[in-house]
Amino acid sequence: MIHFVGAGPGAEDLITVKGARLLKETDIIIYAGSLVNPALLGYGKAGCQVYNSAEMTLEEVIAVMKDAESKGLDTVRLHTGDASLYGAIREQMDLLDEAGISYEDVPGVSSFSGAAAALNAEYTLPGVSQSVVITRMAGRTPVPEKEAISKFAEHGSTMVIFLSTGLLEDVSRELIEGGYESDSPAAIVYKATWPEEKVVRCTVGTLAQAAKDNNITKTALILVGGFLGSAYERSKLYDPGFTTEFRKASK
Ligand code: SAH
Repeated sequence: MIHFVGAGPGAEDLITVKGARLLKETDIIIYAGSLVNPALLGYGKAGCQVYNSAEMTLEEVIAVMKDAESKGLDTVRLHTGDASLYGAIREQMDLLDEAGISYEDVPGVSSFSGAAAALNAEYTLPGVSQSVVITRMAGRTPVPEKEAISKFAEHGSTMVIFLSTGLLEDVSRELIEGGYESDSPAAIVYKATWPEEKVVRCTVGTLAQAAKDNNITKTALILVGGFLGSAYERSKLYDPGFTTEFRKASK
């Protein structure tokens, strides 16, 4: 059995209880060494074999899984954050399907949640935005034309931009092209929930400079939108004048 496990954004106690239990019980761990906190390997039992997928191809990862399976051993494939975002799990699952090997997917806390926590922020503020766009700039992986950052920026929704810390001049240009002002609020969160976490508040126009000033070149999320400002409306859910399924209005 293969267990895809979301490791969480960094802090070793932000893995789920289920993920930690699977790590403790498994025979083999294949972890995404570029981003998973190595401290999580400490959950592994004595004699557990550990592979770093940052140094492996997809075929090598699958070969380790197949070998484990033939010996009746359990494998945990440990991905950073939640594996459903930029996790390259689908291609592994398809090859496992072909090989008739069963697997499960155990969700994790994504770094976009870790970044909100680092900012003490709510992405979906009433009167500001009720949607979150999770996206990236094109890198070696292309982004469909229709999903250009400038196009999403037209909506004025909350934006969480992954995998783009090296392209911040372009990120700013596209955001402004799409309708953000140069002085609209933005933030960079480096290594959210890790001990070395950095939170930098800036503006859409100063993203590149802010990253440079703080020596941030990778492992960061770019957050953009009115949710980083001060104006919003109170929720209806907790409004004294509003009746809900569980509570009557007080006036
Ligand atoms: N599946 C992961 C994302 C993997 S893609 C998740 O759910 O978070 C890798 C990118 O995620 C990095 O380039 C960076 O943009 C972002 N990232 C991952 N961990 C991060 C963290 N702790 N803090 C800030 N950004 C992080």
